[in-house]
Amino acid sequence: MKILWRTKIAHLPTPIEALPHLSQAMGGPKIFVKRDDQTGLAFGGNKTRKLEYLLADAQAKSAQLLITAGAIQSNHCRQTAAAAARYNLECILVLMGDEPDSPSGNLLLDHFFGAEIVWTSRDQRDAMLNAVFEKAQREGRAPYLIPYGGSNPIGAAAYAYAVKELIEQTKQSPLEGRLPEWIIFPSSSGGTQAGMVVGGKVYGYPGSILGISVDEPAEVLQNKVAELANATSRYLGEELSLTAADILVNGDYLGGGYAVMGKPEQEALSLFARKEGLLLDPVYTGRAAAGLLDLIRKKYFEPGASILFWHTGGTPALFADRYRDQILE
Ligand SMILES: *Cc1c(COP(=O)(O)O)cnc(C)c1O
Repeated sequence: MKILWRTKIAHLPTPIEALPHLSQAMGGPKIFVKRDDQTGLAFGGNKTRKLEYLLADAQAKSAQLLITAGAIQSNHCRQTAAAAARYNLECILVLMGDEPDSPSGNLLLDHFFGAEIVWTSRDQRDAMLNAVFEKAQREGRAPYLIPYGGSNPIGAAAYAYAVKELIEQTKQSPLEGRLPEWIIFPSSSGGTQAGMVVGGKVYGYPGSILGISVDEPAEVLQNKVAELANATSRYLGEELSLTAADILVNGDYLGGGYAVMGKPEQEALSLFARKEGLLLDPVYTGRAAAGLLDLIRKKYFEPGASILFWHTGGTPALFADRYRDQILE
């Protein structure tokens, strides 16, 4: 597989830790965590891996301005704004929603990194993103467009390589030489899962790669991931032809919708914090962990299986005003 040129932003390899007290409390499989919340850039997260390759591409194209889009509490936008600052680039973020009176969580950090923020509605987001990009082009600002979640073949490639990183560190980690049967994580724009699936095939990961959908029905996300995985493999000189049936997605944990924290997320956050001193986030890892806990209780996993919960970050959203009351409940 072709290895793309990257900028060195992330702290890699990210550590793997055992979660013995959580495993014991659940009375089920052994649970481990891969700490991509510790990728090192501005509180880290999975987008930092993708940005290593996206920034390299932006530099190769002599870009001077990064433009991307997301939700108000977008972790992707926060990490993009930080990467722009680090590489002396300008940054415009197109955020969906109404500008809050006082910014908190990720949005506070977006401002802190000096990003220019453009507000739009969900219906208008694609049109607005294009308009902002074209305006910047006309003004000679050399813009580089990063898609939602950094999920194109360049961004997704980072997670193909991350599977190689996991396989290589298996011996030197609490996994003690045994690859986990399951990799579980939150899946949304699909780049993380598409990359993992490509890496899993190419580097020979024998287990199951299960994305817990954060905002879309399973079939929609499966199709999206399969398509992006195929495109990523072609970009990297491989010829995978995957279909939705090859992509494992669970869409049972959508709760009240995207970014709505419910009881299951609250329970998961609290359990990880109190059993392991580990912070999850209300939107992504909280939802995926809630799914994981429910699947363990339903005896979904074979006895003796080990599970790697791939922590994708997002913890600054813990400090967003909208979640404060619930987190303290
Ligand atoms: C973006 C994000 C995800 C989802 O990753 P995709 O590649 O968009 O599927 C998961 N967790 C966190 C914390 C994120 O910020």
